[in-house]
Amino acid sequence: MNPKLLFWVPVALRLGIGAVGIGLLWWWFGALPALWVALAAVTALVVAQLHYLYDLSAWLDDPQSAKLPDGWGEWTPVFSRLYRLRRDDEKNQRELTEWLARFRQAMHLLPDGVVIMDDVLFLEWCNPAAEEHLGLRQDRDKGMRVTNLVRSPDFMDYLILGRYDQPLTLSFRGRKLIVHIIPFENRRQILVTHDITETERTDMMRRDFIANASHELRTPLTVILGFLEIAASEPLDADTRQAHLKLMVEQAYRMQHLIEDMLTLSRLESIDHPMRPERVDIGKMLDRVQRDAQALSAGKHEITLEIRGGDVMGSADELYSAFGNLAANAVRYTPAGGTVRLLWEDTASGVRLSVRDTGIGISPEHISRLTERFYRVDKSRSRETQGTGLGLAIVKHVLLRHNGTLTITSEPGQGSTFTVNLPKALSAAPQPAPALAAK
Ligand code: ADP
Repeated sequence: MNPKLLFWVPVALRLGIGAVGIGLLWWWFGALPALWVALAAVTALVVAQLHYLYDLSAWLDDPQSAKLPDGWGEWTPVFSRLYRLRRDDEKNQRELTEWLARFRQAMHLLPDGVVIMDDVLFLEWCNPAAEEHLGLRQDRDKGMRVTNLVRSPDFMDYLILGRYDQPLTLSFRGRKLIVHIIPFENRRQILVTHDITETERTDMMRRDFIANASHELRTPLTVILGFLEIAASEPLDADTRQAHLKLMVEQAYRMQHLIEDMLTLSRLESIDHPMRPERVDIGKMLDRVQRDAQALSAGKHEITLEIRGGDVMGSADELYSAFGNLAANAVRYTPAGGTVRLLWEDTASGVRLSVRDTGIGISPEHISRLTERFYRVDKSRSRETQGTGLGLAIVKHVLLRHNGTLTITSEPGQGSTFTVNLPKALSAAPQPAPALAAK
């Protein structure tokens, strides 16, 4: 029905009924009483309208749907419509507040920095990641010009020149950041910062690793190629050919060692290759490590093994590789006639293997870098003894996977001690008859 009719029909009806009533009074009691009653009725109507008008105006000061007054007559649909409007409004507001809270929470958790600035680069809002990346403080810096807060010439140029189609790579406060500016609304812009420090670091490590590995592989390959070219271009007598073949085999083994070590390292680093802890029979394993070391030494060193500790939980293959590398290093960096002692013992916090040698030792400035890939104190000695430069990097990764640590104490000319500590959590429960061996 037409809303106009919906309003006016009841009004007309009520006025009609009133007029009929007044008419009846007139006919029954005469004109004067009827006029008095009509005057009283109009006054009551006006007072009622004023009362509802007052209620409405008072409600508008604090327009809550629950406090809306009841109305009579034409006021009833007005108040009920106001009630509906207000209720919808309150619902929208509630939804908006919830959405805003969710948005703020997401912004707080976002690893990327977000800064909202006005068109003249004054800070309006920023999230915690932006505070960390750019050294801002939302409460302290709000309303200040961002170019005065982030003191970097590259950043200032980027913001002031306004060429925002390309992102800026910014080095700031020890971080590498990618900075984007996105204009939004009419007079605002969003600045987004993305931290790529870690990605850059791993990229650099990967590049270094590839460069080093290529270099390491190229050296033996050049030697092999050299001999092959000689063999292809001139006839050689049997002795020379034999000598060349022997050298080529050595170089091929060197390449093979290097590739094996690289594969071991890559397996240790791979998340697709989780460690499956098992009970490691330490007596058996260290016996094997000692025998390998003796074979490498070819009788030139005294190599002892003492086992005073219990077994351990971990990966037998990985621990064998780590312990084997330490024992082999001790032999390789100890001149003939020296001693290598392997000692396995329990400690307050777990178990420990110390590999002590009386070898050439290491100057203190090298010690912290020894576990870096391809780091060598003396390149020629490492190569002479079939070193790949990856042994201690493998040890480090194995220990990382076993929550263990490596400590190195050494003095040039006095020998070195490499100590592996493994935590209790990985130590196996004691056996009824602990293995004891001293050789
Ligand atoms: P490499 O294959 O060259 O031995 P490693 O990673 O095993 O590579 O060791 C890194 C470097 O640490 C070695 O090149 C050597 O200079 C030094 N180093 C390792 N173990 C010993 C040791 N027991 N005594 C002296 N120097 C050692």
